[in-house]
Amino acid sequence: MRKILPVIGVVIIVGILYLDAFGWGSNGHRFINRNSVYHLPNQMQLFIQDSSFFALHASDADGRVNSSDTSLYAEAPRHYLDIDDYPNFHNLPHSLDTLIALYGWERVKDNGTLPWATMWNMDSLVNQLRRGDWTRAYLTASDIGHYAGDAHQPLHNTWNYNPGGLHSRYESTMLSPTYYLSQLYIVPDSVHYVSSRINFIFDYILHSNSVVDTVIHGDTYAKAISGWNGSGTAPAAYYTALWDYTRVMTLDQMQRATETLASLWYTAWVDAGLILPTGVEAPPLTRAMEFSLAQNYPNPCNPTTTISYTLPVGGTVFLKVFALDGREVATLVSENQSAGRQQVVFDASRLASGAYVYRLQLGGFAQTKKLLLLK
Ligand SMILES: [Zn+2]
Repeated sequence: MRKILPVIGVVIIVGILYLDAFGWGSNGHRFINRNSVYHLPNQMQLFIQDSSFFALHASDADGRVNSSDTSLYAEAPRHYLDIDDYPNFHNLPHSLDTLIALYGWERVKDNGTLPWATMWNMDSLVNQLRRGDWTRAYLTASDIGHYAGDAHQPLHNTWNYNPGGLHSRYESTMLSPTYYLSQLYIVPDSVHYVSSRINFIFDYILHSNSVVDTVIHGDTYAKAISGWNGSGTAPAAYYTALWDYTRVMTLDQMQRATETLASLWYTAWVDAGLILPTGVEAPPLTRAMEFSLAQNYPNPCNPTTTISYTLPVGGTVFLKVFALDGREVATLVSENQSAGRQQVVFDASRLASGAYVYRLQLGGFAQTKKLLLLK
C-alpha cells in the first residue's frame, strides 16, 4: 500500500510519486511498445508498420498522472497492483466490486488499479477499432502497452516496491543507455487469443510478483560485489553486478511483456471483427516470415561461406562476426533492408582457423550462431 507519511516531508513525497509513475523508465516502455509488433500476424500489417508511433506514445499515461486526483479512477493508481498487500493474494477475487466490498475503496485504490485499467482500455480499444476511429485506437493501444509494461516490472506488483531506492536503480538507471539498455532483446514469437482477459491479466501480474525476490536479492548481491553501502550514487560495478544477477529474469520479463501486449492487441482486433481468429495458429506464410538466422553453409568453411536470414519487417540490419573473446572481426551487413529472405557471402580468408560467432540484429532483437573456419 502506498502510505505517504506526513513526517517524510515534501521533497520525498514528490520523489515517491515520481517513482510510482515510471514503470521501466521511459526507455523500457519504449522498448516494449516498439518491439511487441514483431509477434503479430501479417494480417495486422497496419499495426506492425506503426511501431514507432506506439514507442513515441509509450509513456503518455505517465504524463497524465495528477497527484491531486484522488478518485478510484485516477491515473496514478493505474500503474501498479500491490497484490501481496492483500491476504491470500494468490486467490484474490478478480472483480473490482468484490474487492471494494471486502476491503473498502480507499485500500483498493491505494493498492493500485492496474488490472482494471487494462480492462477499461481494452474495452475502449475494441470500440474504437469497431467504429474505425484509428486516431484514438492508436493512442489507446499505446496506453495498453504502458500498463502491460508496468505489469511486467516486478516492483510494480508488490507492496515492497522501493526498498532502499532500488526501484529506479533497477528500472531506469540499469536500463539506461549508459548501462544495459542495448542488451535488451526479444525473440519474435506468436500471439494467442485471450478468452478471459481478467484471468490473463492476473496471471501475468502474479508471475511478476513471483520474481520480485530476484530483483531484491540482485540488489543485495550487487552491493556485496561492489562494496557500495547504499548512500549516494551507486557505482558502475553495482550496476554490472545487478545486471548479471537479474539479466535472465529481466530478458524473460521483456519477452513476456511484448508477447502479452501483442496478444492483447490481437484480441482487440478479433473482438472488433477486423480479423478472423484463424490467425491464432500462424499460417505457413507467417511462419516463413519470422525473424530467423540460418546456419552458415558450408560449415566448417574454407574460406568462404554463405549466411542467410529472414526478416519479418524491414529496418536497419547489422550482421557482424565476432571472435570468441568478443572482438568484432567483420561487419557483413550494416544497412536498411526490406522484409524477406536475404543472404550474404562471408570471405574469411584473412582470419585464422577457429570458431567464430555471427550475430544478426534488427531493431530490438538479435540472433546468434557459431561458425567454424578450418584452413
Ligand atoms: Zn507507469
